[in-house]
Amino acid sequence: MHELSIAEVLVIQLQRLADREGARRVTRVVLRIGALSGVEPEALRFAFPVAAEGSCAEGADLILEEAPLKVRCDDCGAETPAEPLAIRCAACGGDRVRITDGSEMILQSAELAFSGGER
Ligand SMILES: [Zn+2]
Repeated sequence: MHELSIAEVLVIQLQRLADREGARRVTRVVLRIGALSGVEPEALRFAFPVAAEGSCAEGADLILEEAPLKVRCDDCGAETPAEPLAIRCAACGGDRVRITDGSEMILQSAELAFSGGER
């Protein structure tokens, strides 16, 4: 399952972050998921607790923010939202566009717990 390996990579990132900061646990994770990232938010929601089991991120709240696709047009310079299946400029209809947002999954923020806290 694709999302499980994504979740595993995410947990590794969180573990590194917690180690670097000297935190015991990760309590909340905010992820921004681009429309073109290929990540299925619902599937990730299920996969994350599985991947996080036994790690510092076990029991963390996972907040998913979906990032719509945005493009900047080389012809008219407009930055507009676009449909993943029909990527073109919404202002002039041109297809000489560059994707400016919505193409990847970004770890937006993570909340760390430093003491034993609730268990
Ligand atoms: Zn345009």
